[in-house]
Amino acid sequence: MYLKYVSLAMTNRIAIIGAGPAGIYASLLLSEFNGQVFLFDQNKDVGEKLKTTGGGRMNVTNKKFSAKEFSSQSSNLLKRLFKNPHFENRHLIFKVLGIEYQWEKNRALLLSQNAPLEVARLKEKVVTQKNLKLCLEHKALDIEKLESGLFKITFETPQGEKTELFDKVILSGGGMFRMRDLGDTDKIYQLPLALGHSITEVQPSLSPLIFTDKVLRELKGVSFEGILTDTQNKKTVTDDMVITHFGLSGPAVLDFSAFRESESIELCFTAQLKENELRDKINANRQGAIRLRALLREHFTKNLSDFFLQQADLSIETVIADLPKTKLHKLIQTIFHYPITQVQSKNYPSSWTTKGGVKLEEINTATLESKLAPGVHFAGEIMDTNGLCGGYNISFAAISAQIVADSILNS
Ligand SMILES: Cc1cc2nc3c(=O)[nH]c(=O)nc-3n(C[C@H](O)[C@H](O)[C@H](O)COP(=O)(O)OP(=O)(O)OC[C@H]3O[C@@H](n4cnc5c(N)ncnc54)[C@H](O)[C@@H]3O)c2cc1C
Repeated sequence: MYLKYVSLAMTNRIAIIGAGPAGIYASLLLSEFNGQVFLFDQNKDVGEKLKTTGGGRMNVTNKKFSAKEFSSQSSNLLKRLFKNPHFENRHLIFKVLGIEYQWEKNRALLLSQNAPLEVARLKEKVVTQKNLKLCLEHKALDIEKLESGLFKITFETPQGEKTELFDKVILSGGGMFRMRDLGDTDKIYQLPLALGHSITEVQPSLSPLIFTDKVLRELKGVSFEGILTDTQNKKTVTDDMVITHFGLSGPAVLDFSAFRESESIELCFTAQLKENELRDKINANRQGAIRLRALLREHFTKNLSDFFLQQADLSIETVIADLPKTKLHKLIQTIFHYPITQVQSKNYPSSWTTKGGVKLEEINTATLESKLAPGVHFAGEIMDTNGLCGGYNISFAAISAQIVADSILNS
């Protein structure tokens, strides 16, 4: 038995579990690895989630890129992780991987604007890489570190269960909320758990918000650049949003879901106009015959202007000169501090990512190697790191893959 393990160890076998972006990038970045790399996925194809990203407008990265745009329960370790120069030099990783993009304001969009095509391009690279073997329809069920130091992984395949031995393992199975047809949410963290790792509380993230406020939902389809504030932790997000038949969606809302702690939030319907500015404008027109609605229409759509008037119990005919102070107060409150209660994140399958995952305290932030099971590395969303909308998560998949590849190639 001992001899068998030795001979297998000499072949230098790496198992990468999960062929999403993190797993694919890691396998490609290991092209110089002197041994055999096996890339496993439970699906019939690679990158099923990646194919759906961005509805064809996949964001690859962002000019603004720091730990502030990420959340983790171990925020200090996240900051330490961000000290790695690969975060700053991520464009070099994209170059090696052949990922082409163009800038649109702060965001870098995939040049082809076709995520399935990008997955096909990456797959072509994977199947032609000499030291790489792609094993689809291989679902990793369990992992065990043997006394020899090798890892025994059990797979479920269409032909039945099988076990294989590896010298090193990269766990890149993504997060819990990842795909439309996911039926195994409770099993997703089985492998890190089997190695003794802990999983922080996981929640759907980058998800639309649902709430019961029927009055606001009447405005479905109305979009604007606004500000959302969590009444508990006071975190705010400013960006575009849209009112839907169930609540709120859009970039601001998805980002906000990553930070939200409270069920009570505050909505400001404008990011441009300040509260005092509107108050001053109204007061400056106290003498004339100008209607309040006309002034509101300078800044808001017809639907929103009428909604604000209705909420303040004012008619659309109201002349500013006749506006009572109490109603002005109510109007300002509605526009700048509209309270929404009983807010929840829309769950899977609407969420884009998972908040939470393998605890960073148990991972060496310089190498992304497990502190509990040396020889095992982590890449991508499986860890307790979650980026905002706008290219952060794809970038994180690439950067973490590069850190892991460096660590393995240098060891
Ligand atoms: C609609 C949508 C749009 C998005 N848009 C963007 C965007 O524009 N920019 C951006 O940066 N991010 C975006 N994201 C987020 C991004 O897609 C994810 O953060 C990213 O895919 C995570 O990569 P990953 O490789 O870590 O995990 P995943 O992509 O989830 O891949 C994990 C893989 O592991 C496999 N796997 C899991 N368990 C096992 C097992 N036990 N055995 C074998 N295989 C297993 C899964 O089948 C899967 O293929 C979007 C997400 C969605 C849903």
